[in-house]
Amino acid sequence: MLGIFTPDRGRLTLSIKGSRRINGRRGRPLRFARLEFSCYIKDQSSVGHLNDVDPVEVFMFEKDGQLGRLTFASAALELLANLLTDNDPQPACYQITLSFLRMTNSVEKKRLPGLFAGYILRLVSLLGYRPNLVGCAVCGKAIEEPEKPDASVMLSIEHGGVVCAHCRQSDLNGIKLVGISASVFRLADRLLKSSLEEASQTIVSVNDLHILVDLLTALLKYHSGSMKNLKSFDFLDKLARAVKAYGV
Ligand SMILES: [Zn+2]
Repeated sequence: MLGIFTPDRGRLTLSIKGSRRINGRRGRPLRFARLEFSCYIKDQSSVGHLNDVDPVEVFMFEKDGQLGRLTFASAALELLANLLTDNDPQPACYQITLSFLRMTNSVEKKRLPGLFAGYILRLVSLLGYRPNLVGCAVCGKAIEEPEKPDASVMLSIEHGGVVCAHCRQSDLNGIKLVGISASVFRLADRLLKSSLEEASQTIVSVNDLHILVDLLTALLKYHSGSMKNLKSFDFLDKLARAVKAYGV
């Protein structure tokens, strides 16, 4: 079975007759490609058979830092596969994913962490899980930024965003909080407002990327019914391997 993300029908799961894999011209399996294809799908289902396939754009990630590129691309697509639901077209997600793959194929390798962070923040926002960093997620009041760079900003996973000092102190119903540093908070806030191009110009340390990914994973596990347990999807392991591949 092959998972295919289409602009107008969302996610399709198609079986392939004959060969198990779709191969490129040199016989190599294509893991990341934009395809033209015909398929047979019964009624309103999102499951069917794939007939003719023609790769029209192939991402080989052959530039310097190939393993890092492959790892970021596969982590991104696994996240996407976890969050998409059947019969739910997401054309904006499709476009941004295509841009992400093109850029992952072409940007300098030092830009990959910023690009990846920017993409996953945009993706979760488009799919309705945007973390609220603007107002208090409990009472709605504007959040005052901590003045010291090493101060912490507190977030509630359950409420999906930042919690103000007043709500923290009053400890309404014992809200569970997680803290991030003011610098990671500012980074996340900036990336949420960035295009992919701008995100790729933002220097994101591997440590900060871990923190952002951990936070998003916790939010998605809590709020998305379709998010599977991340066993087959060990983001941090993948990222660690990406970092090794960089030699940072
Ligand atoms: Zn509040």
